[in-house]
Amino acid sequence: DNPQPKKPDWIRVKAPTSKGYFETRNTMREHKLTTVCEEAGCPNVGECWSQGHATMMIMGEVCTRACTFCNIATGKPPEALDVFEPGRVADAVAKLGLNHVVITSVDRDDIEDGGAEHFAMTIRAIRKRAPDTTIEILTPDFIRCAPEALEVVVEAKPDVFNHNLETVPGLYPEVRPGARYFHSLRLLQRVKELDPTMFTKSGIMVGLGENRQQVTQVMEDMRAADIDFLTIGQYLQPTPKHHAVDRFVTPEEFASYEKTAWNKGFLMVSATPLTRSSYHAGDDFARLREN
Ligand code: SF4
Ligand code: SF4
Repeated sequence: DNPQPKKPDWIRVKAPTSKGYFETRNTMREHKLTTVCEEAGCPNVGECWSQGHATMMIMGEVCTRACTFCNIATGKPPEALDVFEPGRVADAVAKLGLNHVVITSVDRDDIEDGGAEHFAMTIRAIRKRAPDTTIEILTPDFIRCAPEALEVVVEAKPDVFNHNLETVPGLYPEVRPGARYFHSLRLLQRVKELDPTMFTKSGIMVGLGENRQQVTQVMEDMRAADIDFLTIGQYLQPTPKHHAVDRFVTPEEFASYEKTAWNKGFLMVSATPLTRSSYHAGDDFARLREN
């Protein structure tokens, strides 16, 4: 085991105690919903939940992939998709009165369409129950599916289509085995081709062993694929069994990444140590729509 670098004081996590936090938690329990906020042990849970921002995870709690940074259980999912889940998600969104919701899922390589239709049903159910809520989806890569799988999801018209590249291509074999960098990039480019009005979004974690030049290259690849929004955050090791933290990227380096990203023409950039794919997603999106 490599000794891990000590957490710097800019990675500060407040214990969740607010009323809003408990309300969000109760609503999730009541509707039997899983959140990535809890499953991934996200450091922002206190802040996000107290403001009614949450990322719901659909299609079960067991993933068919085994990314080495991720705390979701991996294996063969025990259950078929729950046909009532889209309705429960929509009810929870309506009950929490969310302005913006992020829906993500485990990877279901065991299902022919990768869960595309289930995503589409969830989007449609939310539109019906909570028509004013903007919807962001954070999807799997549908790598083993026919091209139609992606079309089904895009046709359901989420407001933002997010798929994370997670890291630089050179680290894929050790960080994201089972995925392919250029496949993921192409997926996002196809979303834009299918519906040029849809916002596309992607993100990476830093501190996994990448260097600045590689990060800049990823930004260029993303812009070449017409990706609109970018998130960059510090990787944190969920348990000692997960990929080691190579280093803690300083707030100054994050600020410099952010500046580079704006210069490359992204419409929205979040690059801070605690940035997560869904962090403040709603606020940023609302601001963008106002402009
Ligand atoms: Fe949940 Fe995303 Fe907020 Fe983390 S940043 S608590 S995953 S909504
Ligand atoms: Fe985690 Fe997603 Fe990788 Fe599955 S595909 S292990 S949920 S990051």
